Amino acid sequence: MTSSPRVPGAAFLHAPGPTHLPKPVLDAMSTQPMELGDPALDSLIARCESGLKQVFGTAHDVFMYAANGHGAWEAAITNIAAPGACVLMAGSGPFAETWALHAEALGVRVRRTPWVEGHPASAQAVEEALRADEAREIVALFAVHTDTASGVTGDLAAFRAALDAAGHPALFVVDVVASLGAAPFAMDALGVDVAIGASQKALMMPPGLSFVAVNDKAMQVARANTLPRYYWDWQRRQSELNYRKFAGTPPQAMLFGLEAALALVAHEGFDAVIARHRLLADAVHAAVEGWSEGGALSFHVQVPAARSVSVTTIAVAEGIDPEALRRVARERFHVGIAGGLGALAGRLFRIGHLGDLNAPMVLGCLAGVEAAMTVQGIPFGPGVARAVRVLAAGSAS
Ligand SMILES: *Cc1c(COP(=O)(O)O)cnc(C)c1O
Repeated sequence: MTSSPRVPGAAFLHAPGPTHLPKPVLDAMSTQPMELGDPALDSLIARCESGLKQVFGTAHDVFMYAANGHGAWEAAITNIAAPGACVLMAGSGPFAETWALHAEALGVRVRRTPWVEGHPASAQAVEEALRADEAREIVALFAVHTDTASGVTGDLAAFRAALDAAGHPALFVVDVVASLGAAPFAMDALGVDVAIGASQKALMMPPGLSFVAVNDKAMQVARANTLPRYYWDWQRRQSELNYRKFAGTPPQAMLFGLEAALALVAHEGFDAVIARHRLLADAVHAAVEGWSEGGALSFHVQVPAARSVSVTTIAVAEGIDPEALRRVARERFHVGIAGGLGALAGRLFRIGHLGDLNAPMVLGCLAGVEAAMTVQGIPFGPGVARAVRVLAAGSAS
């Protein structure tokens, strides 16, 4: 295998995870490890925990796993769902479906509300499914806040209201992997019982660390759950001993990086981080609106309010190969964008706009995509120019 020659200048990473890493995070991750009895390790872990609690908007425990987001999914499933238990999955796209299949593979029965392409999960369908569950078999409602594959962001307050209106005692379990640190979210205020995050999306870390925030109601369900488990077990991780919190050696390089990333969020200010994501998303959405005038591209998400601030899904007309477009964007213009997953494969491409990003980075990505579309002969209307207008105004309106 030959290694490819170095490309001069910066590469533009615009997948919806993994995302661009800030220099302070990279530097922090090159710190030498400590022995497990060093009090500095305890305080590093404590700072990561308290920073994560702020980002999740919770006063409850946040458990950290040396695993990708799928590990956190498995942690939620195995702690909550007893053998043969049933969960309700709010259908929002391929990520919700993959999480449902994950639960089924572990022996959990999954009821699904229908996923309507281009639309967020329906709170009404959720409420109907909960009301229909007269035997109260459903132990948890699972919802993906931002379904990274379809690019929709669901209305978590409406799902909470659906649970309350149905008077259903099920836990409310939310995957905020793609939205944490990008879209407004506050676990305790929203009445979420379990929230799941991962390092490599808006949190500006490499892949490999995931988080599960768990309130008292969910801990109680976990304590009563007889399903055999060890590594994922929440109770085992409620320890004062740092190595027990990780069921073994803490992933120290990741924790140094996380501490640095959380400090960046705190320094910018959480609200400012959320506002920056809103503005950059508005710029991308304006560009896609402009591109659509060429007749070959369109928003996959039909409901403007449900378009994610983290990722935009762009549907292509028949005869256009989004994978070929991605290849040209990557190889000739050094812009990394994502493709369609699951049922959406070959039908759209995705631009990630989350994490350590600013306006010129987003403009560079959009211009690179325009260059790649020009090479591919894909017609498009004014995109970059529209994005510039939004960024110059400092807001979409
Ligand atoms: C990325 C992602 C996951 C999966 O995370 P991995 O680290 O790839 O396992 C789960 N849910 C959502 C919404 C995601 O965006």
